Amino acid sequence: MFKIGHGYDFHRFVEGRPLVLGGVTIPHRFGLAGHSDADALLHAVCDAILGALALGDIGQHFPNHDPRFKEIASLRLLEEVVAKARVQGYAITQVDSTVIADEPTLAPHIAKMRERLSMTLKTPLAAVSIKATS
Ligand code: MG
Repeated sequence: MFKIGHGYDFHRFVEGRPLVLGGVTIPHRFGLAGHSDADALLHAVCDAILGALALGDIGQHFPNHDPRFKEIASLRLLEEVVAKARVQGYAITQVDSTVIADEPTLAPHIAKMRERLSMTLKTPLAAVSIKATS
């Protein structure tokens, strides 16, 4: 069976944290507020997969009061979500995503972000799309 899920996420910019998007640390004067590394792109992808499987949302699986997930790389969270899909006999065949941010310019980082996402999802690079808009 073929399933489709949607996910989205928002995080505030804050000072004093690294900016991590798509599993890539991007040099910037602000990072994103959050309990984990606050990678909003990966959180949205996690939610899309969980949604397709009707498994709830990322907050249920990785609560933001649980010290196990403090500062955790969201790539690890995504790995766990992909494993949950595999247990049910599913593979991720395609991802299309859009990051909305006024800053910084993400274009120079998109290739690396796609690579990280592709590896973690075990999905061919050609089927992993990341777009950015301000
Ligand atoms: Mg989030």
